[in-house]
Amino acid sequence: MISRIIDFITFVGLPIRKKFLLFSIGVLFWFLAIFVMSEATLYDINRRSTNIVDSIVPQDRIAQKTTRKLQSLHVDAVEIMDATNPEFVRQRTVVSTARLKDIDTFLAAFGRGGRVHDYSRDNNELIESFEVLPVTQNQEGHRYVQELSALTETLGLTFDELARIKLELLQGNVEEAGALTGVYQELKEDLAEARTLSNRFSAKSAYLYQVQAQKIKDAVHCTASAVVVVLVIATALLALFTIWISRSLANPINSMIKQIHALGEGTADLSKKLTVSTKDEIGKLSSEFNGLMESIHRMATFKKVIEEDDTLDDVYHRLGREFRDVIGLEEFSILEVEKNSKKMKAAYPFLLPHEEIHCHEDILINSDLCRAKKTGHPVSSLSYPEMCRHFRADTGKEHICLPMIVGGSTGGVVQFLFDRNGQDKMHTDAIDRRIFAAAQYIKESLSVIEAKKLMNTLRESAIKDSLTGLYNRRFLQDYTETLVAGTLRRGKAIGLIMCDLDYFKQVNDTYGHDVGDAILRETAATLTECVRKNDFVLRFGGEEFLVLLVDVEEGETLTIADKIRTSMAAKKLKVPDGTLSKTISLGVSEFPTDSQGFWQAIKFADVALYEAKNSGRNRTVRFASEMWTEAKF
Ligand code: GH3
Ligand code: MG
Ligand code: MG
Repeated sequence: MISRIIDFITFVGLPIRKKFLLFSIGVLFWFLAIFVMSEATLYDINRRSTNIVDSIVPQDRIAQKTTRKLQSLHVDAVEIMDATNPEFVRQRTVVSTARLKDIDTFLAAFGRGGRVHDYSRDNNELIESFEVLPVTQNQEGHRYVQELSALTETLGLTFDELARIKLELLQGNVEEAGALTGVYQELKEDLAEARTLSNRFSAKSAYLYQVQAQKIKDAVHCTASAVVVVLVIATALLALFTIWISRSLANPINSMIKQIHALGEGTADLSKKLTVSTKDEIGKLSSEFNGLMESIHRMATFKKVIEEDDTLDDVYHRLGREFRDVIGLEEFSILEVEKNSKKMKAAYPFLLPHEEIHCHEDILINSDLCRAKKTGHPVSSLSYPEMCRHFRADTGKEHICLPMIVGGSTGGVVQFLFDRNGQDKMHTDAIDRRIFAAAQYIKESLSVIEAKKLMNTLRESAIKDSLTGLYNRRFLQDYTETLVAGTLRRGKAIGLIMCDLDYFKQVNDTYGHDVGDAILRETAATLTECVRKNDFVLRFGGEEFLVLLVDVEEGETLTIADKIRTSMAAKKLKVPDGTLSKTISLGVSEFPTDSQGFWQAIKFADVALYEAKNSGRNRTVRFASEMWTEAKF
């Protein structure tokens, strides 16, 4: 569960494209966060400053203008008191009435809003005009307007009373003299109260202004700090993520580069694996790379092992095991083309019965009938039906045959078989992959097969006679021990037939050595034809041959020897002037029937041959103990 959460947070399981998409979304998120914060603050600042500019400032201005008007009214009152001229009193009364009206206009604008025109009432000139928004939700303001409106009404009446009394006084009516001071006092007090109201409201506006300004300051400060904090967090997170992503990309790639470099220099430790820490493309790449290294490693090990193997059969055997156990190919056979002949034989599995070969048997006699052998190219019935005419279609199998090119020619063919049904795309893809792998193994083993074949040729040239292709006396020396041990273990006997052509010298003398050589080859062929496959025919000396019959029954050797004799006598041998017949003399012995030692049995066969010659040639003589006298030989 926890590892799943970690995987989710670190995007381990996501493909690279999605990782970067999420990364971009992350970046966008932080930008958005900063943008929203800034925008909200700006909105707040704007609201507050609009409040200041549109409401507080004009209202304060009205309050100040009202105060100024009230001051002027005070001067008006003083001037009326001091006046000596009735006309001046009337004129001042008109001015003060206008001023009081101005105050009413200001107060009305306070409630309704609208444009305010401020005139100097001394000369009726416009001082300024400005827009005022109606006062809403401002109790203080409303109270101010109400109280001041009531006061201005009183002030208007008081002013009228003052002017009336002053005019009466100036007209000589002294009865009112005492009342004038009282009215003036009342007026002064009302004006003072009105001024106090305005001043207080002005002070309140100033305070409000200060509060809003402070709030704007605070908001700016707060947002700036928040933006800094968000930026720091975002930068840290993005930096961490960038480091993590680049590491998860760079580390495996660097390891791969190192490994590839080491491969190039030949110092690579092929068993070393890359750690697969992510499930994205890099993870897959690492796994693939590991797989590749593993197959290179396996291939290198395989090559080393087969190089150290003793025989070609071992190589074929290991190749077969790799096909089956590592690659998973079930049905296959390795056919080997015989040296200096067109024949082909099954090299793996060993001793493959003929019915298990899925080709016409003719290819074993003439390997050129095998298309893969002849062309040196892969032949697949999957890519082209019935591509090779010599593959038996009635087996219900498909085949892919890969040639093994050794020393410039096809030294063998590996045939892979598959069931004909179930050839969907996946199936053929799997086959292709396996065949590709098998081809790599074949390719790797070719040089080893070539070297082993060369070794075999060298070894054979030492134990085989080049004229007849038969084994020579050296082979006998090497092989005796094995042959004898096997025979004794099985409780069987070896039949020995020593053969010598009669009057062979004459052939050489009459027709020359080349004809003599040809007759020796014919004789070798006749001998081989007369015995079984696992018997041995050796050229023992010039025109002397030794036949070894493996696991013979009592008396069997004599029969075979006589068969050789009659076959030889019946044979028509070609000579320049027609044909010729040659007879052969044979001496027979058996081991261990006649002797304790194998070499002694050979000697006994030779003794019997001597007897055959002496008794007139073209004879078969079985060795008898009385033929052997120490004195004689
Ligand atoms: P015999 O019936 O007593 O065996 O008479 P022979 O003439 O066969 O016996 P001999 O031992 O007198 O002669 C053997 C001859 O075989 C001598 C040699 O010229 C010939 N010979 C041996 N090796 C070869 C060979 O490789 N090629 C050829 N053409 N002749 C060979
Ligand atoms: Mg002879
Ligand atoms: Mg001889």
